[in-house]
Amino acid sequence: MSRSSDVDPQLAARLHGVQERVADAARAAGRDPAQLTTIVVTKFHPASLVRDLAALGVRDVGENRAQEARVKASETADLSLRWHFIGQLQTNKAKLVRGFASAVHSIDRPALADALGSDDGDLDCFVQLNLTDDPSRGGAARADLQSIAERVLGTRGLRLRGVMAVAPLGEEPRRAFSRVREASDALRTVAPEADAISAGMSGDFEEAIAEGATHLRLGTAITGKRPDHA
Ligand SMILES: *Cc1c(COP(=O)(O)O)cnc(C)c1O
Repeated sequence: MSRSSDVDPQLAARLHGVQERVADAARAAGRDPAQLTTIVVTKFHPASLVRDLAALGVRDVGENRAQEARVKASETADLSLRWHFIGQLQTNKAKLVRGFASAVHSIDRPALADALGSDDGDLDCFVQLNLTDDPSRGGAARADLQSIAERVLGTRGLRLRGVMAVAPLGEEPRRAFSRVREASDALRTVAPEADAISAGMSGDFEEAIAEGATHLRLGTAITGKRPDHA
């Protein structure tokens, strides 16, 4: 177990700096900072970084590759963290992710909801909206959002929390996030309790908060540069 006094002071400083910016952006939008969840994205970093973050009080961590996440989650199982899966997910890896994750943010098709279903407790689910016209970017087309949400609602062991999106390159983030807010409003007319919005990364979280984001997925602003990867 890392103690906070042993942790890299630069990591602590980045975390605290981001936490202040999140709180400032929430207050500027007339929102209560306590209503926001910051998920620290630890992809490509070793389990030791997860341990250091936990020593600094982080409870929610995010990963985008199933196998890498599973290994890290088991290496840090003593910390009782909440693991958020945020990457594209193959149906045949759904059970593996179900084994360690508290939430999946990247549900983009009905078959994935089917594969994640289970009799064994509830999994928090976000339907990912693709804000581009490029299907390879991940996420569902706006027109498919409702039918996927209905599939989540109708599947045992899944709890629909809301929508997730990544702001596209080349669009003003605030405008992109306003489209996410519109989709969230529409979803809540059929599922009022699905009021969460997973949006905002290191470069655009203040804009996301202004448009109602409840779950921020923050990597490099907190962890520093990611290690090189293939
Ligand atoms: C990597 C990743 C993030 C975090 O990105 P940063 O720019 O490092 O904050 C957030 N969301 C998703 C889906 C990611 O893959």
